[in-house]
Amino acid sequence: MKILIADAFAEDLPARLARHGKVSVDPADAREADVVLVRSKTRCDRAYIDAAPSLKMIIRGGVGLDNIDLEYARQKGIAVHNTASASSIAVAEHALAMMLAMPNHIVRAHETMRAGQWAKKELKRSELRGKTLGLIGAGRIATEVARRAAVFGMEIMAFDPFVSRHDLAEMTRDLPTLLAGSHYLSLHVPLTRETEGMIDAARIALMQDGVYLVNTARGQLVVEQDMREALEQGKVAGYATDVWYQDPPENSPLIDAPNMLMTPHIGASTAENLGRIGDRIVELVAKFVAENETTVIARAESNFTNITSDPRTAGSR
Ligand code: NAD
Repeated sequence: MKILIADAFAEDLPARLARHGKVSVDPADAREADVVLVRSKTRCDRAYIDAAPSLKMIIRGGVGLDNIDLEYARQKGIAVHNTASASSIAVAEHALAMMLAMPNHIVRAHETMRAGQWAKKELKRSELRGKTLGLIGAGRIATEVARRAAVFGMEIMAFDPFVSRHDLAEMTRDLPTLLAGSHYLSLHVPLTRETEGMIDAARIALMQDGVYLVNTARGQLVVEQDMREALEQGKVAGYATDVWYQDPPENSPLIDAPNMLMTPHIGASTAENLGRIGDRIVELVAKFVAENETTVIARAESNFTNITSDPRTAGSR
């Protein structure tokens, strides 16, 4: 069994997987890999899959599967898994951190202090308590956000065509109602044909003046130029995003837009989450090995590199 760790995972993952097969972190070993582990960096498109003829399983450490050609993988008989539940708390805490940082002007307060200014009069804060939070998508991460926002005394509404009832949020069947009724909006949908560009000028026009938006889902959900204009006009009081059209962003009109709060796709990058992702991957690989043992033993060994630790796995995405 040959396992390629293509992206950045917990440092101890190669050693943990070594008992299930030969582990490599060299992307060139994709050609011989039975199992490939990716996060959001490696794109498992047609070309990648064609260049990996032995591939039987792709594991995406994380949630979004938009970097994997699922249909082509299905045609080739390649199983695709994610580690769906592992990241929810890490991303929800990041969304809350952003939601707190904007109305409290944490970044500006810090920067003005650094610049030797005392902006006590200028920095007028506002509270989350009593404000309405509109969740777009009511899945795992949204639920963890709702749990935390409730503790802050927020009213919580949600829009999700696939969820009719939620213990923590009042569901609405109608996105315009959610947009018009929310002081804060937080995006928690996957990137699909339906959700791409869902926050555009027309939808922003339906929102309250001075709304705050948080995006820890996918950059492509928001039309960046439309958001820039809304920030310049003050229609949107703040846009906090962890996610981009590409990592890192190139020529994004948001980089120098006013009232932006930006992070480099670190929503899932907690040490605790990387540990949970590792646990789930080890489980999936062990199960796969058990199910495929006889087939794999029959296959010829090659000079696939076996490593137990490599500095490239130390980072996180
Ligand atoms: P989930 O599958 O539990 O929830 C997604 C929800 O979106 C589902 O309930 C689904 O019904 C709903 N949905 C689908 N299409 C919709 C639409 N058109 N309108 C409204 N709702 C719709 O997923 P999750 O674990 O909550 O993750 C959500 C997204 O967060 C992922 O798809 C991923 O893109 C993103 N994410 C980002 C990071 C990060 O590092 N910033 C980490 C993990 C996940």
